[in-house]
Amino acid sequence: MIYDLVIIGAGPAGCSAGIYAGRARLKVVVIEQLSPGGQLLSYSRVENYPGFPEGIDAFELSDRFAKHMDLFGAERISATVESIENHREKIKKVITSVGSIETKAIIIASGAVPKKLDIPGEKEFIGKGVSYCAVCDGPFFRDQDVAVVGGGDSALEEALYLTRFASRVFLVHRRDQFRAAQILQDRVASNDKITRIMNTTLSKIRGGSGGVETISLYNKLRHETLELPVKGVFIFVGLEPNISFLPKDVKLDSNGFIITDERMQTSVEGIFAAGDVRSKLLRQIVTAVSDGAMAAFSAQQYLELLA
Ligand code: NAP
Repeated sequence: MIYDLVIIGAGPAGCSAGIYAGRARLKVVVIEQLSPGGQLLSYSRVENYPGFPEGIDAFELSDRFAKHMDLFGAERISATVESIENHREKIKKVITSVGSIETKAIIIASGAVPKKLDIPGEKEFIGKGVSYCAVCDGPFFRDQDVAVVGGGDSALEEALYLTRFASRVFLVHRRDQFRAAQILQDRVASNDKITRIMNTTLSKIRGGSGGVETISLYNKLRHETLELPVKGVFIFVGLEPNISFLPKDVKLDSNGFIITDERMQTSVEGIFAAGDVRSKLLRQIVTAVSDGAMAAFSAQQYLELLA
């Protein structure tokens, strides 16, 4: 069987594409390696998605996205995409861990994962104190001191979330200003449990068989190193795109995100990209769902010309 459209990823962008493609009566399959939701599943609450002024639980929102997509007939399979073959042909092949799928068009909505710091001790203590998900691991640090690294929306939002459990949260940022939304900066400033440590980088994580014990911090202005005892280190220093399966000739920006035009068309005909995997200015749920809708619409137009 040949599908009209394969959507890779069932986060907000993939689900939105699935809804639009299903409503356009395309024969569509959505491939997701975990549960639908993507990065949304690592957040606790969403406060800036229009229509939910009181905020909405992140799990509930991702569940609603998936149910909405199912309603319009998009098929879903659970698999890992390994590669894309014949990507410049009219019929393309998506190779997955459970077999290959033939399709006329593809939307890549595979999202992004947290970047690593690549410092000594980071890899060694993943799951033993080093984490990239406060919602997943925060409860393990009840009444303990933790550090959060980064100055973007994720770092500040997660630092605030961690104050529910931790006794103290040290927020370590490499510059003298955060890039996070002002509302988050205000909340951090007025939270007694959070200590901001600016102009400082994390250079080493040390510990033993019981997990993380201390971190080494380097103050760039005073040229001083400080040892800080903490049990947890939460790292939020940006994202890197999930593109390991992508053909090498699909054009990327200098950070490895997929370049598209405003119709979400990549440099390869019939392959579209949507959401956090795409090179863009603002990575939000609301921009991901917009990308997904546009990608599905463009795929539909592409298929009409192909017929
Ligand atoms: P981000 O906005 O790219 O911020 C990354 C932060 O990490 C920056 O403060 C950066 O410092 C710092 N950083 C980067 N590399 C570093 C290194 N090697 N050592 C130390 N610090 C480093 O990433 P993000 O916070 O994960 O957010 C990703 C996207 O999702 C953004 O577009 C964000 O707006 C969005 N997001 C939105 C929400 C929301 O709306 N509620 C929540 C979460 C994420 P500099 O500032 O010095 O560059």
